[in-house]
Amino acid sequence: METKKKNSCIKCSVSQCKHNMENENYCTLDCISVGTHEPNPTVPECTDCNSFVKRSCC
Ligand code: SF4
Repeated sequence: METKKKNSCIKCSVSQCKHNMENENYCTLDCISVGTHEPNPTVPECTDCNSFVKRSCC
Protein backbone atom coordinates (compact mmCIF):
# COMPACT_ATOMS: atom_id res chain seq x y z
CA MET A 1 0.00 0.00 0.00
CA GLU A 2 1.21 3.48 -0.88
CA THR A 3 2.49 5.42 2.11
CA LYS A 4 1.91 9.14 1.98
CA LYS A 5 3.88 11.60 4.03
CA LYS A 6 2.92 15.23 4.22
CA ASN A 7 5.35 17.86 3.03
CA SER A 8 5.09 20.51 5.72
CA CYS A 9 6.49 23.09 3.27
CA ILE A 10 3.52 22.75 0.88
CA LYS A 11 0.10 23.57 2.28
CA CYS A 12 -2.78 22.65 -0.01
CA SER A 13 -6.51 22.24 0.50
CA VAL A 14 -7.33 20.63 -2.84
CA SER A 15 -8.70 17.36 -1.51
CA GLN A 16 -9.71 16.26 -5.01
CA CYS A 17 -6.04 15.85 -5.86
CA LYS A 18 -4.58 12.40 -5.28
CA HIS A 19 -1.41 13.97 -3.85
CA ASN A 20 -3.32 15.81 -1.13
CA MET A 21 -3.19 14.63 2.46
CA GLU A 22 -6.83 14.98 3.35
CA ASN A 23 -7.75 16.37 6.75
CA GLU A 24 -4.30 17.86 7.13
CA ASN A 25 -4.40 20.17 4.11
CA TYR A 26 -0.88 19.44 2.93
CA CYS A 27 0.63 18.12 -0.25
CA THR A 28 2.52 14.83 -0.08
CA LEU A 29 4.88 15.44 -2.99
CA ASP A 30 8.51 16.43 -2.43
CA CYS A 31 8.20 19.10 -5.09
CA ILE A 32 5.37 20.61 -7.13
CA SER A 33 5.20 22.57 -10.34
CA VAL A 34 3.21 25.82 -10.36
CA GLY A 35 2.24 27.67 -13.51
CA THR A 36 -0.32 30.07 -14.89
CA HIS A 37 -3.06 30.00 -17.50
CA GLU A 38 -2.99 33.79 -17.90
CA PRO A 39 -0.76 35.90 -20.13
CA ASN A 40 -0.34 38.44 -17.33
CA PRO A 41 -1.15 36.96 -13.89
CA THR A 42 -2.25 39.47 -11.24
CA VAL A 43 -4.01 37.50 -8.49
CA PRO A 44 -3.59 34.05 -6.90
CA GLU A 45 -6.50 32.73 -8.95
CA CYS A 46 -4.38 33.15 -12.07
CA THR A 47 -2.01 30.43 -10.92
CA ASP A 48 -2.34 26.66 -11.12
CA CYS A 49 -0.72 23.66 -9.56
CA ASN A 50 0.48 21.72 -12.58
CA SER A 51 1.22 18.69 -10.41
CA PHE A 52 -2.50 18.17 -9.76
CA VAL A 53 -3.79 14.69 -10.54
CA LYS A 54 -7.46 13.92 -10.07
CA ARG A 55 -8.07 11.45 -7.28
CA SER A 56 -9.66 8.29 -8.58
CA CYS A 57 -12.89 7.38 -7.00
CA CYS A 58 -13.16 4.46 -4.53
S1 SF4 B 1 -0.06 18.29 -6.32
FE1 SF4 B 1 -0.74 20.42 -6.18
S2 SF4 B 1 -2.99 20.29 -6.03
FE2 SF4 B 1 -2.15 18.29 -5.56
S3 SF4 B 1 -1.98 18.23 -3.32
FE3 SF4 B 1 0.00 18.88 -4.16
S4 SF4 B 1 -0.07 21.11 -4.17
FE4 SF4 B 1 -2.16 20.38 -3.95
